[in-house]
Amino acid sequence: MPRRPRPMATCRFCLVLLWVFTCFSACDEDLPKPAVDVTPPQDVIETATPDALDLDAPEALPPEDLSPDATETAEIEDQAPDGTVDLVEVAPDLLLDAVEEIAPDVIVIEGELRVEVLDVGQGDAILLRTSDGKVALVDGGRSADRVMPHLSSRGITHLHLVLASHADADHIGGLVEVVRTLSIGLFVDNGVPHTTQTYENLMGSVEQRQIPYHTARTGDRFNLGAHVTLDVLWPGDRIYSDQNANSVVLRVTHGRRCFLLTGDATTSVENALVDANLSPCEVLKVAHHGAEGATSHSFLESVRPRLAAVSVGTNSYGHPASTVLNRLAVHNVLTLRTDQVGTITYTSKADGSLCHASSSNPQERCLLN
Ligand SMILES: [Zn+2]
Repeated sequence: MPRRPRPMATCRFCLVLLWVFTCFSACDEDLPKPAVDVTPPQDVIETATPDALDLDAPEALPPEDLSPDATETAEIEDQAPDGTVDLVEVAPDLLLDAVEEIAPDVIVIEGELRVEVLDVGQGDAILLRTSDGKVALVDGGRSADRVMPHLSSRGITHLHLVLASHADADHIGGLVEVVRTLSIGLFVDNGVPHTTQTYENLMGSVEQRQIPYHTARTGDRFNLGAHVTLDVLWPGDRIYSDQNANSVVLRVTHGRRCFLLTGDATTSVENALVDANLSPCEVLKVAHHGAEGATSHSFLESVRPRLAAVSVGTNSYGHPASTVLNRLAVHNVLTLRTDQVGTITYTSKADGSLCHASSSNPQERCLLN
């Protein structure tokens, strides 16, 4: 059996030194560890170093991998629906709050919201005016020949907000001239393009005049003056092939009074809103000129309107459908039609009353509660 060489017996001190030296070099595992290890193992250093570099990674990445992509995406989203115009997305609250100009010659008693369903024939055009001088136009009818005289007769040269419910001609036709000639604070639509020349002309004017633009989506809120809010209930993120189903649905609130503006919304839209716990609203702008495919019983049960307006003119579609008028009657809704009474005016007053009148019957009738 091999043995470790025996040291010389004549020198005990040398033996001790030799044992110490030998064990430091060959018997390290038999010695106690040093109390303080000041030299960390090499593998710890190698593991720690990449982690530290990862923390500083953004500085090491080329700039083109970061913000430029995000900026490009935002610009695409800001473009007009047809992708041909370069519009500026503006936060609606900020913009409307920032606009201080007051339309001249607008006579509205303080503390009021006046909602006029304008007589523009077969189409929609709804004018909102607040007591603090804010003016909004929702749709413009088929022709400027109808809507422009209404605005002119009220001395309106500036509109804080213009909103197109959807791009059908009976809603945006009149807006082309409005946007081309009047001062507009903000233009809003559903962001769904149309192939018509009317739509191209409208968006072309929005772009050319550099009118701030916003795409309406569920949850958006516009402040029209200090006391009136416009909440977008529809559309959401999903877009449909049927233009009517993409109609912007607005809930206009002034104090305890509410106006529901539905564009040409369909029964499927109404059902979706009902499923989303649609709150009651006293005044209903009946959807799609009173077409059969809207204003269902379940919708009326949820909204519980007391007053309703049908914006309609001579047409070949059978608008308004007798079944819809019957449904409204069954739900005890006082319904007025623009083709019968002309422009319909609703006024929410500071005392909480809600009044209505029309071109053919200017005498106001008011609900006090
Ligand atoms: Zn329509």
